Amino acid sequence: MKLNRTLPLISESPTVKLNSLAKSLAAGGKKIINLTAGELDFDTPAYIRKAVSKQLINNKYTPTLGFWKLRQMLAKQVTQDYGIKFGPENLAVTAGSKSGLYESLSVILNPGDEVIIPVPYWPTHVQQILLLGAKPVLVPLTAEFDLDVSLIKKKITPKTKAVIFNSPHNPTGTVFSRKALQNLQALLSKRSIYVLSDDVYAKINFDKGYVSPAKFVSNKKFLILISAFSKSQALTGWRIGYVAADKRIIDAINAFQSHMSGNASVISQLAAIEILKRRDKADKFVKVLNKRKNLVTRMLRTIRGISFRIPAGAFYFFIDISRIAKNSERFCQNLLRSGLALVPGEAFGKPGFVRLSFAASNSDLVEGLKILKKFCEQSKS
Ligand code: PLP
Repeated sequence: MKLNRTLPLISESPTVKLNSLAKSLAAGGKKIINLTAGELDFDTPAYIRKAVSKQLINNKYTPTLGFWKLRQMLAKQVTQDYGIKFGPENLAVTAGSKSGLYESLSVILNPGDEVIIPVPYWPTHVQQILLLGAKPVLVPLTAEFDLDVSLIKKKITPKTKAVIFNSPHNPTGTVFSRKALQNLQALLSKRSIYVLSDDVYAKINFDKGYVSPAKFVSNKKFLILISAFSKSQALTGWRIGYVAADKRIIDAINAFQSHMSGNASVISQLAAIEILKRRDKADKFVKVLNKRKNLVTRMLRTIRGISFRIPAGAFYFFIDISRIAKNSERFCQNLLRSGLALVPGEAFGKPGFVRLSFAASNSDLVEGLKILKKFCEQSKS
């Protein structure tokens, strides 16, 4: 019996796979410094634990799109953060941003539609499009990892249904420049193309100049903003996120989600209400991450043969190792045997690079970077 025909097109998330491999090696007794994680290493904030532990009595379904009160609070927060007027009817509460993305793509795409994605990409964006029988159209970022709007223009065809942007960007840690976003706005303003802004890292930026791509969409009907509390509140496992969009899209998501997962976990929704009472602030985490970023920058600068850009957001360095190794996948496999796990650029459509997550303790970062330095020096000689 044949399984679904889209299955051969997709594969398990490479970052999740490598993370699991590193964990299993560690479980077998090998000491592995794991800098592959796409999540913060902090515990659930105490105020969330305290508030939610008093509400565990709640066990019933909620409305599919989430508590109305939560949707109201989200609408207020998103309106404040983005300066775009959203009401509760424009908000859907989802099980993390992955679900929000998939639901959004599901309600807008038909088989054969094209979706433009910058490269390097976050693999799930590509895989979700393939799952829906649509076509990812890959457009390289500039050498500085900014949007290349003239290249995007060349890739637009009558089949282009959407673009997906993610800033701060995984895996490069860059934030797209205001200039590129203005050019993009000019390019898309008269076109009927959806802009999906994956803002899951929006609260984690080290640069006062950060501005979300979502702010550069002229026709709000074509904006689909996807975000979550996963990264800003160290709540990846709680699966709680949201989509803000035109009511037509949200109503379609309501129908879709009602048959898929139903409501996001009631406990996580209650946590989101507590978070929004404090305006979803991530300042404390950002302060710690900023120090770690500086530590990693200092240590990377001592390694010859590599090059990198200092991240302006998220918690990743995307390091060019192409002068040391041609094949970054093999580089990462050998590095793993030396005790350090990093993600090869192939996972993001960009061989010759490796992704290092600094969502790890100072001691792990120091030890990991010592391993990397030694490994690079040996590989060069
Ligand atoms: N979008 C991007 C760009 C990500 O890097 C990730 C997680 O790594 C997600 C979405 C998924 O976030 P969530 O845990 O909220 O589904």
